[in-house]
Amino acid sequence: MRYYADADIREMHNHAIRLLADLHDEHGIAVEIDRIDEHHDPITDFPGEVRRLTPEEVYERDLKRNRALNAVIEQAPSEAFKRYGKLDIAGNVAIVDEEGSVQWASTLPGYADGYGPGFESQTAMDFLEDIATSPSNRICVECLHLLDGDENFCPNCGNDLS
Ligand SMILES: [Zn+2]
Repeated sequence: MRYYADADIREMHNHAIRLLADLHDEHGIAVEIDRIDEHHDPITDFPGEVRRLTPEEVYERDLKRNRALNAVIEQAPSEAFKRYGKLDIAGNVAIVDEEGSVQWASTLPGYADGYGPGFESQTAMDFLEDIATSPSNRICVECLHLLDGDENFCPNCGNDLS
């Protein structure tokens, strides 16, 4: 799980870091942070790698012309992460496979008061909260396959999710 930091709002940013640490500690999920827009406190005590990158580097590496991502998000990555010609990535989270390629990413980083019902599947915080509570609800940890929440077995690898 990769977090493109920092979310604008400090509270959201700190909450994301706490949830990522929980994912690591309680569910054994590898977590990392790409700090592309640093404006909150230094990140200490994080159980994964913290890197400094530019939004352009992240966009080129992870999002641009990413077919897997394109297939699972509603907008094209170029629309979702580039608004009015300007990169808008910080605050989002992404699922990264073993090869380092992004398989899914949130497209709405969300604000402190949330987006209201209907957009849960697209916000970073809802996703992190969902999988921190029950990782089998949204992704198969074994293969990072996305789920719709009703499966007893992962349709990709057959992992028992019950
Ligand atoms: Zn699986």
